Amino acid sequence: MPHPVRAIPEGYHSITPGLTCKEAARAIDYYKSVLGAAEIMRMPGPEGKIMHAELRIGDSVIFVSDEFPGPACYCGRNGCIETWISGTGLEADYHRATGVQLKGPEIIARSSAGEKAALAALDRFEDRLTRALAQLINLLDPDAIVVGGGASQIPRIYQNVPPHLKEYVFGQEADTPILPAKHGDASGVRGAAWLWPLK
Ligand SMILES: [Zn+2]
Repeated sequence: MPHPVRAIPEGYHSITPGLTCKEAARAIDYYKSVLGAAEIMRMPGPEGKIMHAELRIGDSVIFVSDEFPGPACYCGRNGCIETWISGTGLEADYHRATGVQLKGPEIIARSSAGEKAALAALDRFEDRLTRALAQLINLLDPDAIVVGGGASQIPRIYQNVPPHLKEYVFGQEADTPILPAKHGDASGVRGAAWLWPLK
């Protein structure tokens, strides 16, 4: 063969460890000073973080990168589904993309008026919602999915999400109806009230 493919690049071994850590830049400084690591390359990311860096220690290469944990959730963790598919998740997504802080209904109104950024935010929202609901269908195969909360007030999800479910469901088949909560976006609170013991 005139151009044989090298599965392992020159200077690398069969396995190259990749370390993801908080404050990767400080970790790299530490590996340099303590282990004599030489920096081969560094790809800077947003907020001074490191997307990818390569260090050589002796005859071996390691990869180092910062963690990118997703938006902070009220529960104390990061990147929970609540931070993506909720009214506040939509607002945060629009804010990240445009720098403009709006309430959900205003984003929906702007999308109806044809604003590109609002339409893109809703497209992302629907794709995330579709993928999340597909996992519910994979695990539970419900007869219907009822959407409550602020997200239920986005009319277009009921048209746009169901046709795409099958792209993410095992077997590529899904006809599960997605329905708005009968009692509006506070239906979850009503449901919780029903759990209160009456005595
Ligand atoms: Zn959470």
